[in-house]
Amino acid sequence: PELKFKEQVVIVTGSSSGIGKACAIYFANQGAHVVVNYASNAEEGQKTLEEILANGGSAILVKADVSREDDVLALFRETVSTFGRLDVLVSNAGLQKDSPFMEMSLQQWQKVIDVNLTGMFLCCRAAARQFVAQEKEASEVSHSELAIGKIVMMSSVHDVIPWAGHVNYAASKGGVMMFMKSISQELAPHKIRVNSVSPGAIKTPINQEVWSDPEKYKGLLNLIPYKRIGTPQDVAKAVGWLASDDSDYVNGETLYIDGGMTLYPEFADNG
Ligand code: NAD
Repeated sequence: PELKFKEQVVIVTGSSSGIGKACAIYFANQGAHVVVNYASNAEEGQKTLEEILANGGSAILVKADVSREDDVLALFRETVSTFGRLDVLVSNAGLQKDSPFMEMSLQQWQKVIDVNLTGMFLCCRAAARQFVAQEKEASEVSHSELAIGKIVMMSSVHDVIPWAGHVNYAASKGGVMMFMKSISQELAPHKIRVNSVSPGAIKTPINQEVWSDPEKYKGLLNLIPYKRIGTPQDVAKAVGWLASDDSDYVNGETLYIDGGMTLYPEFADNG
């Protein structure tokens, strides 16, 4: 079959683990040059890189904390100096710092906002600037009607489902939703498409504490009409579609990848 991202350049932030790692591998398998990014776990980043190279893919590994402006600028500079351009940003890096609201420290609040929301701002701004700059520099005017650049943000079902005990996280993802829609509105005239995916419960290290405990796992399945936990690959395939020309008329949308978690599952048994 034809490779969907042949010779395209894709940055996936937070791709040393979980969903980001699955996205990096997906794009590499589809012919892209992939920039694997991590914040602190070099060993895991290296594993993602090696898996891609072992499959015959093309990738580099770049350390950058998405909440730091200088790191983000360096990440994009290194991408362009290595691969010459950028076609897709998957803005995925994110974390949780859980606490009951009344005990939540300013530090716990700030860290989650810094990475999950400000990190998106810094990466998306850098990507948009690069898309516009490279289009201007192109020696031939493109007559293609297709997007000149694509951004997919990793949100969460908690951009619509309130989440007690995780209010910093829910606030960050709610923020991601309006940030995504607003920049999509602003960037569409530049032929840049911006969308997000909102995963439900996906089996990754972020929620290991839930799926590794049989009681908690049972409780989790009660929230999922489709009765299975999602895989990072479930999310990667949806990200791939939103980053591809197959979704060229999709702008400012949130795609829920959640086995029905946002369908108010408790109403299913309510007569
Ligand atoms: P994970 O913990 O396995 O991976 C998180 C990744 O983000 C890691 O690669 C980590 O290095 C990176 N990261 C963290 N802080 C960073 C920083 N400051 N700069 C750069 N990278 C940083 O978790 P995951 O489940 O794969 O989560 C990925 C994204 O998916 C997050 O945005 C998360 O909110 C979202 N999400 C996950 C689920 C789920 O059920 N797993 C559900 C909804 C949304």
